Amino acid sequence: MKNSGTCPKCQERRIFHSGCVMDRGEGNEAQCLTIMRSDAIEARELGRFEVYVCLGCGYSELFVEDPSELEGR
Ligand SMILES: [Zn+2]
Repeated sequence: MKNSGTCPKCQERRIFHSGCVMDRGEGNEAQCLTIMRSDAIEARELGRFEVYVCLGCGYSELFVEDPSELEGR
């Protein structure tokens, strides 16, 4: 869906995109879903997910926005 703009399950062309998948952190704080944090001091978020959702059937695709952040980890 990311590249085709069409749902592979039902051929719907209305696709919702978000660069942030809502998650809950410590103290129920809203944050974006990520793979990991770099370390306790810098605490930079690595591997943030983006999502594509078919508005016809709900089929969803997750992508890590910048996979290079995960290289060598
Ligand atoms: Zn669909």
